[in-house]
Amino acid sequence: MTGTEAVSAIFVPYGQGGGRGLDAMELGTHGVELDRLVALGLPVVPGLTVPISHAASLVRPDVAGAAVTLLQQLAGRHLGDPDHPLLIRLLASTSMGSAGVPADLPGLGITAESAVALDRLVGSGEAIYDVFAAVVRYVGEHGAGIPGDDFADAEYDAASHSDRARRFLALSAAAGFPFPDDPGEQLARAAEAVLSRWASPRARRQRRGQGLPGDLAPALHVQAIRVGPPERCGHGIAESRDPASGCFAPTGTFRRSVRRAAADDRPGEPLADLPGGRDLLAAALRTLELHMRGAAQVEFEVRDAELALLAARRIERPAPRTAIRLAVDLAEAGIIDDVAAVGSISASDIETILHPQLQLTGSETEFARGLPAAAGAAAGRIALSSEQAVQWSEQGDPVVLVAEETSPGDLPGMLAARAVVTVRGGLAAHAAVVARGLGRPAVCGAATVRIDRAAGTVTSAGQTLAQGDLISVDGSSGTVYAGAVHVVPPRPGEDLEALLRRADTVRRLGVRANADNGRDAALAIQYGAEGVGLCRTEHQFLGERLPLVRRYLLATDPGEEAAALVELAAAQKEDFLDLLAVTGNRPVTVRLLDAPLHEFLGESAQEVNPMLGLRGVRLAVMRTELYPAQARALFSAWVDLTAAGVTPQLEVMVPLVAVAGELASAVASIHRAAAEIEAGTGVRVPYTVGTMVETPRAALIAGQLAKIAQFLSFGTNDLTQLTYGFSRDDVEAQLLTTYQEQQLLPVSPFASLDPDGVGELIKTAIAAARRVNPAIKLGICGEHGGDPASIELCERLGLDYVSCSPSRVPGARLAAAHAAVAVANDR
Ligand code: PEP
Ligand code: MG
Repeated sequence: MTGTEAVSAIFVPYGQGGGRGLDAMELGTHGVELDRLVALGLPVVPGLTVPISHAASLVRPDVAGAAVTLLQQLAGRHLGDPDHPLLIRLLASTSMGSAGVPADLPGLGITAESAVALDRLVGSGEAIYDVFAAVVRYVGEHGAGIPGDDFADAEYDAASHSDRARRFLALSAAAGFPFPDDPGEQLARAAEAVLSRWASPRARRQRRGQGLPGDLAPALHVQAIRVGPPERCGHGIAESRDPASGCFAPTGTFRRSVRRAAADDRPGEPLADLPGGRDLLAAALRTLELHMRGAAQVEFEVRDAELALLAARRIERPAPRTAIRLAVDLAEAGIIDDVAAVGSISASDIETILHPQLQLTGSETEFARGLPAAAGAAAGRIALSSEQAVQWSEQGDPVVLVAEETSPGDLPGMLAARAVVTVRGGLAAHAAVVARGLGRPAVCGAATVRIDRAAGTVTSAGQTLAQGDLISVDGSSGTVYAGAVHVVPPRPGEDLEALLRRADTVRRLGVRANADNGRDAALAIQYGAEGVGLCRTEHQFLGERLPLVRRYLLATDPGEEAAALVELAAAQKEDFLDLLAVTGNRPVTVRLLDAPLHEFLGESAQEVNPMLGLRGVRLAVMRTELYPAQARALFSAWVDLTAAGVTPQLEVMVPLVAVAGELASAVASIHRAAAEIEAGTGVRVPYTVGTMVETPRAALIAGQLAKIAQFLSFGTNDLTQLTYGFSRDDVEAQLLTTYQEQQLLPVSPFASLDPDGVGELIKTAIAAARRVNPAIKLGICGEHGGDPASIELCERLGLDYVSCSPSRVPGARLAAAHAAVAVANDR
């Protein structure tokens, strides 16, 4: 082909690419995007694409001239027409998006002569001259090779944009490359500049740096930009969703006058002030959302109250609030199914919605780092003791408890504090477990921190802070900052629950919570827990109740022991009434006492290795009346409640079993307690008995245990500790960081369940238990029950439920749904 016909055959007007069988490989992503807008019936700025295979031909003046002619026909306007003026915009895109493409040129078609009238019309501080100067410079610098420094020198003391434009025109002429007046020639020169900049070694390097092929070729796009007076014309950018609420509400900014070549730092006006086209903009964004199945962003112009789109894209990673609202809206509209809705949200999205976050600006002073032990954030005055924390918080001051580590006696301080920082302790140690249960953000194992109680100071990384100074804690990242950082409060809303209800229809795993009292259980149920998977009865004796359990543990003669037990059981019944009243008819797993003696007795614990000592069922073997007393308190609470019409499903659980006989005798004593209650009240209490599997031996003899127990719950905190021989209290801060740095371990096995070792033990146990009793109920109640990766492993292993701290329940519901989908996809 020759002549104008042949030349025009290489242009693809917006909307005609698909019909010609062209895709992004020829049209670039922008051409495809604009085709789609036309197909959706949306108003689009007139324009055409020069496909990738022909892009180089646009540097020919005859080709560029034909493009200008066609563009004027498409726009119904003519360059230089003083009543309906037109500018030409040149931009580029590739088959792989517009990353790494050169700047777009929004103001071709201006001449020194036409600029005078255009400026009169457009005004806005010589905006036309600003655009004109940018184009002349771009073409001179990148097309003609005039050094950028010459342009910088030329504009050095320019008085105005018009002065700059005149100086640039003079510089180009003096360099032997006068800037042409003819719009076709201007377009050809601009295309040459864009393509030569595109092909420069620097641009190739940049593309490779972005993971794109160095020789990736662009399509060129030529748009008709219709200009007019600022009262009626302008351009802007809009998104479909309000970032604060996530709801559909077009949000963005609008700028009067013409588009600038460089980033425009004028503040812009809200969309409410658009001089026309607002309803159409909202309708376009709605259409795009449904079509793209995601949040949409558009660039638009308004000319004489008429709206036209210049570009549109799907926002790939909307903010969590928006992502959740959008997923719910699209699912409700039937555009996506529950699996897609749930799959579009990550557990970390939920975390930022559920917990307070620090609003970091980058200028904060980091004080220390440790393990991200409990999500959320808070700021407050440093309190170095539980008593101090309580005192200041009663005065109304926010407090952060900073301690070497915490023990049950610190519960009042932890409750009073907004956040907790410990020097020692891992993700499954006391401080982390309790903080998570209380919903307090915590950083544990911040090993660089030194506490000097006598001086009332804390030191880390060369900085010293005094008790009472302000610090800020980010429990999601494990960072502590000196000073008060602004805390953004959590905003869980109806939309999150709506999404999680959809997750509930996708998941197979049950989700319960570890809750020790009515307060924890209420939060867990509010978050959607189906029941309590672990009530640690020893946690009912923290804080003020601690002397009770100490008195019992330290009793040396049977009389004293029995008296202490009566008191302990009475207190325990109160606590069970509180817990069971809240959990209602749901299942509740009550674990009989497992009190690591060092946690409860501190210095008085005369054990070399308390974690391997007189814990769990072992104490019950030594003190045979302990478990029956606890069981009686529980059953008696049930009897009282059931009279009021509440019938919790009791599951009584025995901890730290390693020998089948330990379990058998504990179960016999529980049955004995039930018989006593029945004899005393005439009420037969329904309950099941089960055991924790938290010693490797218990996992290996799960078949024997399954003959005695009706359920097994994997206590993966202790199971991990004992399988690796890693102390759950202090190995993370001391050792695991180095292990991870040296890639000996990918992640702390206390944070994410180890599939090869601990996971293999669980697998063996499940198989053995189900061989004996196919209906046996199997769950997990270690901290891993709230970790998404561990939840996926639980799904693969075929457990029936996970149980985690209340604040992790929403994330667990979502993760369980993700796990079900992942496993189904593998099949
Ligand atoms: C466990 O060991 O996983 C468990 C849940 O028990 P605790 O953390 O109370 O030892
Ligand atoms: Mg345990």
